[in-house]
This record gives sequence, structure tokens and C-alpha cells, in this order.
Amino acid sequence: MPYEPVIGLEVHIEMQTQSKMFCACPVVDSVSAPPNTAVCPVCAGHPGTLPVVNEKAVEYALRVALALECTVNPVSIFARKNYFYPDIPKGYQISQYEQPLAEYGRICLQTSQGEKIIRIRRAHLEEDTGKLTHVEAEVGAIHSAGKEALSTQTGRPYSLVDLNRAGVPLLEIVTEADFRSAEEVRVYAMALRALVRALGVNSGDMEKGVMRIEPNISIRPIGQEAFGTKVEIKNLNSFRALERGVAYEIKRHEQVLSSGGAIAQETVGWDDAAQATYSQRSKEDAHDYRYFPEPDLPPLRVSAEWVERVKADLPELPIARAKRYQRDFSLSAAEATFLAEEAALGEYFERVTEAGPIAARSAFAWVTGELLGLVNISNGGFESIKILPQDLAALLMMVTEGKINQATAKTVLAEMFASGRKAAEIVEAGGLVQVSDGDLIAQLVAETLAENPGEVASYRAGKLTVANFLFGQVMRKAGGKANPQVVRAVLEKQLVL
Ligand code: ADP
Ligand code: MG
Ligand code: ZN
Repeated sequence: MPYEPVIGLEVHIEMQTQSKMFCACPVVDSVSAPPNTAVCPVCAGHPGTLPVVNEKAVEYALRVALALECTVNPVSIFARKNYFYPDIPKGYQISQYEQPLAEYGRICLQTSQGEKIIRIRRAHLEEDTGKLTHVEAEVGAIHSAGKEALSTQTGRPYSLVDLNRAGVPLLEIVTEADFRSAEEVRVYAMALRALVRALGVNSGDMEKGVMRIEPNISIRPIGQEAFGTKVEIKNLNSFRALERGVAYEIKRHEQVLSSGGAIAQETVGWDDAAQATYSQRSKEDAHDYRYFPEPDLPPLRVSAEWVERVKADLPELPIARAKRYQRDFSLSAAEATFLAEEAALGEYFERVTEAGPIAARSAFAWVTGELLGLVNISNGGFESIKILPQDLAALLMMVTEGKINQATAKTVLAEMFASGRKAAEIVEAGGLVQVSDGDLIAQLVAETLAENPGEVASYRAGKLTVANFLFGQVMRKAGGKANPQVVRAVLEKQLVL
């Protein structure tokens, strides 16, 4: 029986404000900051402390909610979600349950199958938990305080608690179960990451856990309306793991169902080394958390004026930017989306095209090809490159004008990238100006043919591919600077004589 996947996503995104959700502690980098250095009695969950809502966190959340075309509720309610875990010393998480900040949004995705609309069910504010690091006994690591690890004393595994992240504002975005493939899920996650980066509310550093994705996956026989039993994969923080985890579960469900078995509703984890999911726990229900309104916080009121102000201040969003690139530069949907989702890349591309009469296609090819390649090798970000857009434009103009050939331009670009020197300077100093002089090239071709009588004979005997070898020889004689079109034409002419 043919099945179709049905998938809905829950995504947690940190709102990277200066201070935490309910206290004045700073939001610090969870990887580099020493553990437990951004903690106070409020976020450490001491009894008798009182939370106060961070206005900036609400504003950041509103940006995202409005960019997702959600309806913002004028009043939303904070609630306590009760459970025990060592990373949440209060014994509950402040979240929003019955009345979330925003609902009923949508996002338009650009997939390989065309456009796809995903409905957003809700977006609500909550606080992040602390971070646990589980240490195996045999590791015997020295923990960060410099004391001998507990495990070497006791020979047993132990866990470290870091509360720096506890109380960091989190926005949870829940979709309807509108996804029908692992690809759609990945495209959504990438679009969401691009969106929150463009809105300036999140760095998008997924490997640091600032954005975590939980797909809910089920399958159903094609034609059936009712959803099947779902499995939730917890806390994925890379697009690769997301796409593979979803694909893995779809396949597993198909195997279980088509062999007459049943799927158990449960929560699973993704094991990247094994490229497989593993069972974590059977699914808890909402009533297990005994949600109730947070007595220490008043209802959150968001005025219509506030909503209008945030809406008016939204920057150009990646989706609109991609549409503009398609329209103004005749890029394909995929090309435009690629540029628009990397804002720094897109802006750079635009500056290049503005700097001179350069074909958008050529600018796109150089920025996303050669230049991005150099950036990736250097391990630096696109923001820190030494080549100004107008300097790349000047280099491309030299190609357009026939002053240097493509191959030379690539060498020059690498040099510009390393040294920050300008193209004209490098070309001048290296004597790299393209040789288009027909007489000179004719002479080089004649010399080459004279030196390679065997190849010439086999060409004339019908082995035409020999021309490529001879072309290479001529280019070498010209120090790579000869105009390739002229060389090919002259070579052809002399060979058929
Ligand atoms: P839970 O209470 O278990 O978290 P929800 O009903 O709140 O479940 O839904 C969580 C996410 O799972 C939503 O994105 C929703 O669209 C999706 N979802 C719900 N039921 C299914 C299902 N049967 N198959 C796939 N996704 C589902
Ligand atoms: Mg869930
Ligand atoms: Zn604090």
C-alpha cells in the first residue's frame, strides 16, 4: 500500500536579547562562557524570587510572529509547565499554554517541487533550561573548576549542570502537520533560520544550540484523511540531521506498517554516528505537566500600536528579497533563494552589480562560485573579506573588456583575497594583461606546431582531440595570458592548412 508522510514541526529559537527572559542576567555564549557565570537567584530558581518580563524579548518574538504573518493576541498568559529535571531547578518551566503570544501564521517555501505554504499554528514565549553535560566514568576529565573529576574518585559517571542558559528567552514555533517530505522540512528550517537572522533576533549558530528542531512524523495510506500515530524526534540542531532523521523515520514507519505492525507513539533521539533513531520515552500527555497560570506574572498585554510599530520596522524579509532577485536579476528561484537566505552574500552581490555594467549572471557566478569558495577555504565569514564589492566589479570589468582572460581573473581574485590588493595593481605588477594580438598568437601557434609534428600529423589523420593538447601548449607558451578565443581560432586555421 502506498503511504504518504505527514509531518509537523516544533522549533525552539532563542531570542538573543542582552538580558534573560525574567531577570537581568546577561545572555552569554553557551559554548565559550565559563559555566554558571551568568546566573542569579531568579534564573537559578531560588524560592521567593519574582520574575519580571523582558520587554525586548517580547518585541523580538513579535518581530518573528509578524514576519510569519501570525495574529498577535492582545492578551497572552504565562503558565507553569511542571516537571522535574536537573537542568530546571524551579521544578517548572514558565511557558505559554492556553493563550500563546501569536497564532495562525504562514510561510511560503521554495522547494524543488515549487512553492509550498506551511501554516503556523502558534508561536509562544518561554524560558530556556540549563545545560547538562554527562561525563562517562572512564573519561576521567578534569571539570572546569580545575578540581579532579568526580568520576576518577568514584569511578561512576556523573553530570555537570550549567545554568547560564537557564532563563534565556525562547520562542517556540509550532506548525500544522503540513509537510509531506523530508525535503520540505529541511527547506522550512533553513527559511526559518534565515528569517530570524534577517530579523536580528538570533545568530543562526545552530551548532551552539540556539535553534533546535523537533519534527513529529507519521505516515498514512494515500487517500486516508486521518493522521497516523506520530513519533517525535527531539532536539535536532543541524539541517542534515533533520533531513536524515525524518527520512529515517518515514522509512521505518513504512516498514513497520507494511509488515502488519503498529507504530508506538514515542519520543526518539537521533544518533548521528549510527544514522538511526533510538527510543527515549513513551509520549507524555499535556496533563502530565499540570499546566496552570503563572501566579507571579500578570497577563502579557500587547497593544495594537506596539504591533503596528514592530510591523512597520520589519526589514526586507528573505522571501521578499528572493522575489526581488528573481525579478530584477533574472535569477532562478533556487539561485535567488540561496542569495536571499545568506543576507551578507546577497548584499555583496547587489553591490557588485551596482558598481558597473556587469551582467547579473556573471556577478552571481563569481560571488557564489569563486569568491564563496575562497571564503569557505579560509574558514572566515563572508562579512570579514578584504575584497570590496566595487573591487570585484573592477576585476569582472577587466574580463568583460578582454583585458584579462577568465583563468587569469581567477588567479588575480585569489591574490586579491589573500592580500587585499586591487585587481589593476596585481595585473600590472604581474604583467598579466591578456594577449589578443593576432600576429603574436599566430607566431606562438606556428612555433607550437613546429615543436609537435607527431601531434599535428595525428590531428590531420582525423584525431581531432589532439587540438586540446596543442591549445594547452600554446597557452603555456603565452604564460596563460593569451586570449583563448583567438588562440582557438588561429590554431584551427593553421591545423587545417
Ligand atoms: P504534542 O502535544 O504531542 O506536542 P501537538 O498536537 O501539540 O502534539 O502537535 C505537535 C506538532 O506535531 C505539531 O506541529 C503538529 O502539527 C504535529 N502533529 C500532530 N499530530 C501529528 C501526526 N499524527 N503526524 C504528524 N505530525 C503531527
Ligand atoms: Mg511535542
Ligand atoms: Zn538570572
